[in-house]
Amino acid sequence: MTKLAYHLLEQTRSNRPVALKPSRAHGTTHARPGAERESITHRPSQLVSPAIMAIGRFQICGGPGSKGPRPRPGNGCPIKPPFPSMARKILHLDMDAFFAAIEVLRRPELAGQPLVVGGRGDPNERGVVSTASYEARKYGIHSAMPLRTAHRLCPHAVFLPVDYREYSRVSAIIKDLLRRFSTSIEDAGIDEAYLDITESELPSEHIASAIKQQINQATGLTCSIGIGANKLLAKIASDLDKPNGLTILGEADLEKRVWPLPVRKLPGVGPKTDEKLKQMGLRTIGALAEQPMARLVEAFGQAHGRWLYEAARGIDERPLVTHWEPRSMSHETTFQRDVGDWQVLARTLTRLVRRVARELRQEGYVGRTVTVKLRYGDFETHTHEKTLEEPTADPDAVQRAALECFAHFPLEKEVRLIGVRVGDLHKALATHTTSIAAS
Ligand SMILES: [Mg+2]
Repeated sequence: MTKLAYHLLEQTRSNRPVALKPSRAHGTTHARPGAERESITHRPSQLVSPAIMAIGRFQICGGPGSKGPRPRPGNGCPIKPPFPSMARKILHLDMDAFFAAIEVLRRPELAGQPLVVGGRGDPNERGVVSTASYEARKYGIHSAMPLRTAHRLCPHAVFLPVDYREYSRVSAIIKDLLRRFSTSIEDAGIDEAYLDITESELPSEHIASAIKQQINQATGLTCSIGIGANKLLAKIASDLDKPNGLTILGEADLEKRVWPLPVRKLPGVGPKTDEKLKQMGLRTIGALAEQPMARLVEAFGQAHGRWLYEAARGIDERPLVTHWEPRSMSHETTFQRDVGDWQVLARTLTRLVRRVARELRQEGYVGRTVTVKLRYGDFETHTHEKTLEEPTADPDAVQRAALECFAHFPLEKEVRLIGVRVGDLHKALATHTTSIAAS
């Protein structure tokens, strides 16, 4: 923890300290009848301000010092301890219903109502749900669901258009704030981040509480934080007590808190893997942890099988990605009504190309491959790619290539979606960037 971060944390403390208490709702975690010892390691002697208490609910389960029984899957076969060491302390932060929460801030009258943010905010149009408020989720509405389906599930929900500009603005405030707490940060999306807090001398929950409080002060929003020995466990933890949660997963918590979860809760398990695991009779992470690696590798291939084997045991050696280079930049658009007129398609493609080229230049990249994607009304999707002689960010060069690709598509059917991607990116040389910027 840097001096600055410590100073900020000190600021969050008030003169009237109160005892740190675990969340009552999850009290069973700490007081299992017959358990040899409680896994809670942070006694009420630790003091935090009432302000912190007001923002976060605490769930502190185990920790580096706790000595719970070694995890064993249900059939009793011993497995490798999942924590080779508590060498790392990783914090995962996830904003609560981010887009919806920002909309409620702007329009307080929407508080408590089922709210769906997606597309242009019209449930009769094409588009998917970006964020549903917690009230809307009670009706079964979730992200990536078509807006029309969401409307059917909850006709009285409020539908709002996506306002990326505003969400990005708030996101930048949050990310700036996080940099006060660690220099090692992975930006995991507009409303998510991982922080490596291993170096900090302060208890994890103090850091988490300070982050929650400062985000709330700066933006009026709440977030959920999870802390674990790696990215995988931190992410699982942040999801355990949403919204406004603070969960620390220690060594003894894998068996009690992670293994009973459905396999779908494991990062990297999507609908297809979930379905396949169900067919194999594996419904919980604990059931997955009982499987020999050979069976998983046979079913899912070397890389994915290995990941499932290790993830179910809480093992994840992935480092934080604190810096990344984009591999491609792209834009696509779905038409409100399928389009058969090739001139409309070509005009749309040109507009998308200009946008991609502008972003390439803004970010200082040049690309060598241009790909055009077309999805027909029946969802059949085709792509065509052209490799350029020289990497470029020049809109005319990209446009020429894109239109050449476009000419390869049969236009016998109406088109639902069109998109363009520039890939094989390289950092533009300074002289190149300057000449383009000047043009
Ligand atoms: Mg979120």
